[in-house]
Amino acid sequence: MTTEYNKPLPRPLSPELTKPFWEGAKRHELVMPRCQKCDRFFFYPREECPRCFSNEIGWATVSGKGRLHTYTIVHQTADPAFREDAPHVYAVIQLDEGPRMISNIVECAHDALQVDMPVVAVYDDVTPEWTLVMFKPA
Ligand SMILES: [Zn+2]
Repeated sequence: MTTEYNKPLPRPLSPELTKPFWEGAKRHELVMPRCQKCDRFFFYPREECPRCFSNEIGWATVSGKGRLHTYTIVHQTADPAFREDAPHVYAVIQLDEGPRMISNIVECAHDALQVDMPVVAVYDDVTPEWTLVMFKPA
């Protein structure tokens, strides 16, 4: 899936901290930080594990499978970069491996959305440098 973006996109606020996530997305893999001490995935990326505060953080590829935890349909965007995408689905995804992440649901009619529906990651190569992780019905 490729969306042609001719607009300035927001960039990650912590590019070094989130680099493995974005590199994984570019390979069309969902990569998550994983605490080496308590062996749990978490998201968003942080320098310390949110459960045990260890700073021994690794990264691992997850399945990209999960469920739609909750969502809303955005008609008026806060960020002008996404204005032409409205209406779009802003969603919280419960990944099978444990963490939740914010993303978009695509390839699904808005009236077909259901909380707890199975979803799977898809990758949108929006520029040659950047790929966004989104989800579609599984
Ligand atoms: Zn931990």
